[in-house]
Amino acid sequence: MSLSPLLLRSFVYAAFGLAGTFNILNTPAAWAHDPNSPLPTYTEYFRPDALTTDPKLVHCTLSDGSNVDCVQLTLKIEPADMRIGPWCPRNTSDTADRAGKWIYEGDLVDLDGEFITSLDKLYGDSDWKLYSEETGDIHVTETLEGCMAAARPDVDETYQNYCVECALADIDQSLEFTFVIPVKPIPSKKSPTHSDHDVAGISFNGTRLEGPAPVDAILAAHTIAAFDDCGGHVNPHVGYHLHAVVDDCLASMPADVTDHSDVIGVAMDGYMIHARADDEGMVPEDLDMCGGHETPSLGYHYHAGAPGSNAILGCHMGATGCQLGEDGQCLKEGPDGGVLGRLMNYIHH
Ligand SMILES: [Zn+2]
Ligand SMILES: [Zn+2]
Repeated sequence: MSLSPLLLRSFVYAAFGLAGTFNILNTPAAWAHDPNSPLPTYTEYFRPDALTTDPKLVHCTLSDGSNVDCVQLTLKIEPADMRIGPWCPRNTSDTADRAGKWIYEGDLVDLDGEFITSLDKLYGDSDWKLYSEETGDIHVTETLEGCMAAARPDVDETYQNYCVECALADIDQSLEFTFVIPVKPIPSKKSPTHSDHDVAGISFNGTRLEGPAPVDAILAAHTIAAFDDCGGHVNPHVGYHLHAVVDDCLASMPADVTDHSDVIGVAMDGYMIHARADDEGMVPEDLDMCGGHETPSLGYHYHAGAPGSNAILGCHMGATGCQLGEDGQCLKEGPDGGVLGRLMNYIHH
C-alpha cells in the first residue's frame, strides 16, 4: 500500500500541465514549479461551486505526527447541487414525500408520520411521544434557538420528545470550513483510526462526509435528529453534512476503469471514496473493516458504507489530515461539534 497507481497517474498528468487548470497564482511560490508536489488529479473533480477557493498545496501535520504536503480545501456551509431537506414531518398524517429519513436497525427508513407514531413500539419505550394526540401535530424545532437547545447535553424538558431540524437559512452564511488532506496517502503506523465524530472525507460537490451520528445519545434524549433523503442534515456549527452516501445524491466521476463504481470524493487520509455499488449493484466482497480494498488498477480506495450503516467509512487506513481552526491548527474537538457534537462530547467525557 505504498503509492497508489491513481496518485502515480496524477503526477504524470501534473507533469504535463493538466493540474495547471487550477489557479496556479494562488499556489505558494515554493510549489509553483515543483514537479514532485503537484495537486492530485481529484482536485479537478470538484464542482465549480463546491469550494470557496481553488484547492492549494500546503504543509500539514497528520494524525500520526508526520509533516507532509497536503491539499487544502475550503467548504461553504451549503454544498453545490444538492437536494437539501425536507427533514421532520409536521403531522402524523404526513407521508414519506413530505419528510426525510432516520436510521433504524441498520436501514435508512422513511421518517413519515407513521414512523413518528410508532416510536414507542419500535424502541420499546413508552416515554416516546413526539406528537399531539388531538391534532397529530409533530413537535419540531422551528427556530435556530430550538434546534440548538434541543440537542444539548442538558436538554431542556421543553425539547425532549422533539424531532430536531435546523434550517440552513438560519445559520451564519459566511461560515467556511478548511480541511487539509495528505497529497500522498500514508498507511497508518497504528491500527486503523476510527472516524467516530470526525470527518470521514469530502465529496466532489463540497459536502462533509461526516463520521457516525451519535444515534444512541440522540435517542436517549427522546429526540430524532432527522436526515433528509440524501442522509444529510444541518448543524449550526458545521452546516450541511452527510451521515450516509445515497445513490444519485452526489456528484460523481467515472472511475478510470470500466468495472468499478464512480468515485464520489476523497477521504481525510487522501484515499479515494467510491460509491458503494457499481452500475449492476455489485459491492466488492473483499472490503476491509474501513470499507476499503486494493485493486491493481486503482490501488487502495474505499467504498462508502451502506446508507443505514451510520458509517460512510468504518475507519481510516491512512494517517488523516484535519479541519483547521482559525489559528491554522487542527481542531481538537470533533467536527460534528455543534448540536450533535456537544451531546456527543458530553457523553464521551
Ligand atoms: Zn450530523
Ligand atoms: Zn473498489
